[in-house]
Amino acid sequence: MRRQQGQRRFGLHRREGRCARSRGASSAVPSVGSALLCHNTDVGSKASFVTIPRVGSTLEAIVVPIAARRPAQDTHDPMTSKSVSSAGATPFSVQNTVLATLPEAEFALLRPHLKAVPLKRNEILQDALRYPDAAYFIESGVVSRMVRTARDGLVEVAVVGKFGFVGVSLVLGTMQTIQRSVVCVPGNALRIEAGAFRDILQQSPATREHLLKYVQLLIALNAQIALCNARHEIPQRVARWILLAQDRIGKDRVPVTHGMIASALGVRRPGVSKALSDFEAEGIIEGSRGAIRIRDMAGLRHEACECEKILKDRFRIFRDMPYHHHRVM
Ligand SMILES: [Zn+2]
Repeated sequence: MRRQQGQRRFGLHRREGRCARSRGASSAVPSVGSALLCHNTDVGSKASFVTIPRVGSTLEAIVVPIAARRPAQDTHDPMTSKSVSSAGATPFSVQNTVLATLPEAEFALLRPHLKAVPLKRNEILQDALRYPDAAYFIESGVVSRMVRTARDGLVEVAVVGKFGFVGVSLVLGTMQTIQRSVVCVPGNALRIEAGAFRDILQQSPATREHLLKYVQLLIALNAQIALCNARHEIPQRVARWILLAQDRIGKDRVPVTHGMIASALGVRRPGVSKALSDFEAEGIIEGSRGAIRIRDMAGLRHEACECEKILKDRFRIFRDMPYHHHRVM
């Protein structure tokens, strides 16, 4: 029933919510040095905007896995929605890093309101300039945050995985979202209704403070991506993007297309295809229909720019926190 509700809810927008570049965008990629005001979060204040010298993605960096601190693996397959349909019967461990680092006392306030939901490709979780009806703590899969202009169409400016959440505007109290959040790689999330979420944040400053750390993190990552897009070559950025995506989904097979990566980086698709072709010729990756498999992780890291490591290191703020084995139904 939950899934059917989700389908109805997102059905009207699904066709619009494509992760790949829209038809109009491919002919209008800003050149290096051109400016685009964009933003990585739902932050509503002017102070949180940054200037990105080129349309590009703000990749939410990834926590370097520390096995000892990780929550126990769930019994469900995080890449499918099948487990979610049965999640109501079997408790499972929270995989989302932001939630997993939340102390039990604060998490207990959220627990009764968190509902496991599937994330289907191209579903719009939140749309720009709307008041969100819920926040989503990503358990698996990838959500793209997108901005658009009439000339460029939709362009990804951020990616949210299990190290983050969608619903920053609710935490900030600004309410109105700035960007569209679209499911790019299917997975699962823990959803909480906006009203309940807002009430909890008002009664629990500690919870809000914890979630604000993620907001600060997003701002820092946005700045790093601005540098990356301005200074680093397409092959470096492609390698960086794949590595961060791999880390986010936890598998060497990254279900993305050339078009998705081109959209994420704000570059033309042929440039991405050329880089991937070179990587494949060197035995670093293996392309397949709708996916890229990493064959040589060290080789891919060698191809990536320094930003890959910097972006990962940014998540130390959560990585250094103790993980809790929170369980939800
Ligand atoms: Zn870079």
